[in-house]
Amino acid sequence: MSTYKTEGIIIKRSNFLESSLLLHIYTKNYGKVETVARSARKAKGKLKGHLELFLDTELILAYGRNIDTITSSLTVESFSNLRNSLEISFGAYYVLELVDKMTIEEHKDERIFYLLKNVLFFLDKMVLDELSLQGVSQDNVANPKLSSLRIVKGLPRSLRLPRNDINILILFFQINLLNLTGFSPELNKCIFCKKLIKSGKNYFSFSMGGIMGQECFFKNPDAVLIDDNKIKLLRLFQFKGGDVKEFNLHLKKSFQIIKKLKANKKLILNSVFLLNKFIEFNIERKIKGVDFLRGV
Ligand SMILES: [Zn+2]
Repeated sequence: MSTYKTEGIIIKRSNFLESSLLLHIYTKNYGKVETVARSARKAKGKLKGHLELFLDTELILAYGRNIDTITSSLTVESFSNLRNSLEISFGAYYVLELVDKMTIEEHKDERIFYLLKNVLFFLDKMVLDELSLQGVSQDNVANPKLSSLRIVKGLPRSLRLPRNDINILILFFQINLLNLTGFSPELNKCIFCKKLIKSGKNYFSFSMGGIMGQECFFKNPDAVLIDDNKIKLLRLFQFKGGDVKEFNLHLKKSFQIIKKLKANKKLILNSVFLLNKFIEFNIERKIKGVDFLRGV
């Protein structure tokens, strides 16, 4: 039996046949993979508990004629704290759904893997921070060992994010996934006349993929008004391109910015909705998880 090994994060999980699972996994080495885990739902199955959603795992897969199957799974990071906060887990579900719907199989991008892993890491850590603020002993938390929360590639060791920052992380994730999947919105020049965008009255066009000045509004009256603060916020995290090393550096810098950023909560949430609409327009699919981000 020919096999291959890779690290991957489980982004979609559904029951398959009598006792198996159908999984979508975003892997480090092969991009998104659809795979089956046979007998994974059997009480004594060796894969039981090792293929939960959010899990970052070291996998061995066997090539199959129609679909590859998982033969072994060893947890790298369980991100199990996510299950202790409904609101934060909604954010994490949303992120998984975005990766699942915005990526295609057999298209490898290690940067997407690191983006996902790091954002899940911070969401997971946010739950721990919240619980410790509430005075809950971390011994009672599903994954109590703070030391087990390894900092992934080049990130600062202690990055404590206030609770409200969940949407800024989501926004950061949206922008970067758009950048990495080739859907970057144009945020600097008018998409019609290419003039630099000046502060004042500007519009965002979903169909043209970016910002346009007032002088061109008549060319696309369906565009929506976008204010200067929102434009600044969207520009803040754009990844201008580069390899894995440069991307990891960009992640590190961005998380430092996120840590210090003081932006209006409503502005952040509205920007998340704007980008979600832009994503849905591009992929021609609905992102269901967005409905749960409201009110966070
Ligand atoms: Zn223009």
